[in-house]
Amino acid sequence: MEHIENSGKYAGLSVNKGVSQPPSVNPYLAARMKCRRQEYSAAEYVEQIRKGNITVLSQAVTLIESQLAEHQSVAQEVIAKCLPYAGKSVRIGITGVPGSGKSTSIDAFGLHVLQRGGKLAVLAIDPSSERSKGSILGDKTRMERLSQQKEAFIRPSPSAGSLGGVARKTRETIILCEAAGFDTIFVETVGVGQSETAVHSMVDFFLLIQLAGTGDELQGIKRGIMEMADGIVINKADGNNIEKAKLAQAHFRNALHLFPMPPSGWQPQVLTYSGYYEIGIGEVWKMIDDYIAFVKKNGYFDRKRVEQSKYWMSETIDEQLRAHFYRNPHIARLLAEKEELVLRSEQSPFLAAQEILDSYFENK
Ligand code: GDP
Repeated sequence: MEHIENSGKYAGLSVNKGVSQPPSVNPYLAARMKCRRQEYSAAEYVEQIRKGNITVLSQAVTLIESQLAEHQSVAQEVIAKCLPYAGKSVRIGITGVPGSGKSTSIDAFGLHVLQRGGKLAVLAIDPSSERSKGSILGDKTRMERLSQQKEAFIRPSPSAGSLGGVARKTRETIILCEAAGFDTIFVETVGVGQSETAVHSMVDFFLLIQLAGTGDELQGIKRGIMEMADGIVINKADGNNIEKAKLAQAHFRNALHLFPMPPSGWQPQVLTYSGYYEIGIGEVWKMIDDYIAFVKKNGYFDRKRVEQSKYWMSETIDEQLRAHFYRNPHIARLLAEKEELVLRSEQSPFLAAQEILDSYFENK
């Protein structure tokens, strides 16, 4: 195109020859969208998952996490078809308060596990995202070295739903990962509340990461969490923190001796290590290997898995029943009405509840 500015009349002004502008829409987008949107049948998902195709595994996990009914029905079919190939991994729950060094430790533990061969999946349960719309496990780059390993699959916590819902999705993701050949599964959680119980009910070994404090570190920990632990490890045992860590180790050992023997028949151990400087990682792993060998031999490993399956069946029924009840528009209206009556003390809460339930069951 000729620019009049380039004629002699406009001295001092010139327009350079332009370059053609790239189209504002990436011409490959359509092709890529097609590729991304590719929807497989349940059988195709399973076939690819069984081949260890991580991209398809991720897509299937996204289906599990989806709220859409049509995604859920495919997801449930995929899970059912993967079940016969599942169950062959060692599942390890890892908990600890924020700052205890979970990410750093999982990075180090993960590399240690992968050095021995096999494949590792790292899943998480972080129910905080539901309540605060933020996450405790954090958005920072986590597990930097591990995330670059071909044999590692790292998936953050499903974010939507109640703790029960989030935990169920993670439980289902374990099945898919196992069918994809992952033989070690880590399930990480924040050590601040209810989520430990959920994790405990889906793993074979439960590892509690602790820090050495001022000597009264035992006070801050809920007894229930300590009772669930098959191993307690005190992190950051490095530099001039080693002495304190050893002291904490002695405290925890003493405290554990006061607890009754766990049903596994395994006396939980207390070790110190440093995730950052990678000191004592081998010992932590030896403890886990020893535990697994011990409970496989005495039959507890299989017994616990059967118990866990029963637990998940009843949890799922509870969750679905509750969801069905609260989704019912008639019930929602009735609930609002009855709440008013109860607030004004015109009806007792028990009678109100009974009438709502009666109405629900009559209309079934
Ligand atoms: P998370 O919140 O439990 O995931 O903890 P992070 O892994 O993010 O660690 C919290 C902080 O502790 C970071 O600044 C780490 O560098 C530091 N940290 C983690 N492990 C160790 C360790 O073994 N020794 C020391 N000295 N610092 C560590």
